[in-house]
Amino acid sequence: MKSTSNFSLETGDRLKIAIQKSGRLHDDSMRLLKECGIDVSNGVNKLKSEASNFPLEVYFLRDDDIPQYVEDAVADIGFVGENVVYEKEKAVDVVEKLGFGKCRLSIAVRREEAYDKVASLNGKRIATSYPVLVKKFLDSNNITAEIHEISGSVEIAPGIGLADAICDLVSSGSTLFMNGLKESETILQSQAVLIKSKTLAPAKQLLLNKLLFRIQSVKKARNNKYVLLNAPNDNLQQIISLLPGMKSPTVLPLAEEGWSSVHSVISENEFWDIIEKLRDAGAQGILVVPIEKMII
Ligand code: ATP
Ligand code: ZN
Repeated sequence: MKSTSNFSLETGDRLKIAIQKSGRLHDDSMRLLKECGIDVSNGVNKLKSEASNFPLEVYFLRDDDIPQYVEDAVADIGFVGENVVYEKEKAVDVVEKLGFGKCRLSIAVRREEAYDKVASLNGKRIATSYPVLVKKFLDSNNITAEIHEISGSVEIAPGIGLADAICDLVSSGSTLFMNGLKESETILQSQAVLIKSKTLAPAKQLLLNKLLFRIQSVKKARNNKYVLLNAPNDNLQQIISLLPGMKSPTVLPLAEEGWSSVHSVISENEFWDIIEKLRDAGAQGILVVPIEKMII
């Protein structure tokens, strides 16, 4: 029997996780659990579900409510955007960035407005669903402006004369553009994070450690590619020096005299740069393969 199932049978403990019921974070949250090898039946019309192969209970909630549930320890952990965590100011710990749900919280003004620097916001009316974060930003820049809290469709506020500027989440900027607005200040770069309750019992912390280990392996794998290539032996040292690998690249002789097969791992960030250098160094038949899990 696997140790995880032993654990749950012996202690009866299940880690309770809150994820968004539906919306921009739902699918990526479910996919991350799946890639961690945790099977949860989809809960579109359910409030709660249980994983079949990990001691995990999943609560499907509105994203805005997740920090409160975790503060109250109704849920032990949650996946939620940093924008929500920092706006709600609940007593929870941010444990791990999850690499999805990336967006920024930005101030935008009318496109025709002569916006110069942040002082241009003095005396303006700013419509937002993020009054706490906007106030902090204005205070730290010594700006006095009026904050109008509205709960949705913030981007139409300047067009209907409700505000001079808005502060809202942006990813591509197309919503701003369609509403005749331009982004003028970014006040927060956000992505989904794992938060945890400040009163997690030791048995639950152990379960969280197991989950975190899996999440980190999935994240590393997503950020890396496995590369196989053929290298002329004359240039082998140069090619190897371009490839860091987890320890060092694997080198195997090819059946054809004078050539070797080289295997390694390259991070997504430096990928194209390294591939170009490898080609310049005479590498041929370069294959790039996604990695499913990466445990170092
Ligand atoms: P809920 O019904 O759960 O309250 P919602 O309408 O508040 O959902 P969504 O629009 O689904 O929220 O966004 C959830 C989260 O997705 C945001 O809080 C943010 O962290 C992230 N996100 C990523 N990109 C964007 C974007 N372009 N616009 C809005 N949110 C984004
Ligand atoms: Zn919401």
